[in-house]
Amino acid sequence: MFEKGHVDESYVRIPKDELFSFVVNVLTKLGVPKNDAEIVADNLVMADLRGIESHGVQRLKRYVDGILSGGINLHPNIRIVREGLSYALIDGDEGLGQVVGYNAMKLAIEKAKDSGVGVVAVRNSNHYGIAGYYALMAAEEGMIGISMTNSRPLVAPTGGVERFLGTNPIALAAPTNGKPFLLDMATSVVPIGKLEVYRRKGKPIPEGWAIDGDGNVTTDVERVFAGGALLPLGGFGELFGGHKGYGLSVMVDILAGILSGGTWSRHVKNTSEKHSEVDHFFMAINIEAFVPLQEFRENMGAMIEELKSSRKHEDFEKIWIHGEKGFLTMETRLKVGIPIYRKVMEELNGIAERVGVEKLKSDGERE
Ligand code: NDP
Repeated sequence: MFEKGHVDESYVRIPKDELFSFVVNVLTKLGVPKNDAEIVADNLVMADLRGIESHGVQRLKRYVDGILSGGINLHPNIRIVREGLSYALIDGDEGLGQVVGYNAMKLAIEKAKDSGVGVVAVRNSNHYGIAGYYALMAAEEGMIGISMTNSRPLVAPTGGVERFLGTNPIALAAPTNGKPFLLDMATSVVPIGKLEVYRRKGKPIPEGWAIDGDGNVTTDVERVFAGGALLPLGGFGELFGGHKGYGLSVMVDILAGILSGGTWSRHVKNTSEKHSEVDHFFMAINIEAFVPLQEFRENMGAMIEELKSSRKHEDFEKIWIHGEKGFLTMETRLKVGIPIYRKVMEELNGIAERVGVEKLKSDGERE
């Protein structure tokens, strides 16, 4: 049974349904409508199922803080500002990012059914979790899905030392004759959540992920949090293509932020603050408008098979396809439960106590 990451005794296994219900209970107790709470829970739990610990339930605290501080609008009027047959502009009214994102991607899919493509730009939303969640919604409908969001400034542009860009993720999902292809990535070397995981574990970060406040590459996670910055995909300078990651990040700000009439990363704020001004971009491409879906699926399958059977380097166990590790991890975790780091579980149970819902059970308590 394959599983991404390193799971040891510092983790507790929680069944998927328990974790899902826990998130729903916390959010509904705070006044989030049940349907909306379920969308957020589905997004967070999917991240943990797929092995993206940085964007799973460990993020719940931020959403709770956002709700308690009034930074998140629990009953947003998510409205279409303008639209045509194949496009729309949405104002998220500072709702939960997952709820705004889910509705926006659904609209993009509907438009693609009618006109071949659906493009939806969104302004005035909040942190929406994993970008891949929305791209997969389209792949499940036999379409190519694209999803992007800007986020608060954490990344220095190539040649700069200031936090200016967000970790601005990009996701693209496409159906195949098996599990969908899913590229889902931050445009920085790593998302900030990964640094938080290292910080929590008291471990140094690998060299090349981030710089300190003076612009020097550092392995000291505390120096990064004390005024340093993450590096764009490709790393420091131009040698390994840092300028390309920088460009991809700006591309996200253009499509999600400037096109939607929203803003760009430098002005995006934390979920707990009012007017965090997060913007998204979604696209659904109806494959049937171009080629028969079955032909597309078969060709995707053939390409993937050729890729995987191409000559392999001896240091690597196999050639992976984007999304494959996540789907295998999901299969494993649906059987054996989702590993939650003990300190995260304590934090979650602290939230449970604070809002008055049932706590998560540890392994022993369940038996
Ligand atoms: P990863 O580096 O973990 O993975 C990036 C992509 O590469 C995934 O599609 C992954 O598939 C794939 N992959 C991993 N290893 C291989 C390999 N050997 N060969 C081929 N493909 C491979 O992602 P990040 O750390 O950059 O991002 C993690 C998450 O954080 C994403 O879901 C992203 O959307 C989210 N994020 C959200 C932000 C927000 O503001 N909302 C900001 C930044 C990031 P697989 O999943 O199968 O491993």
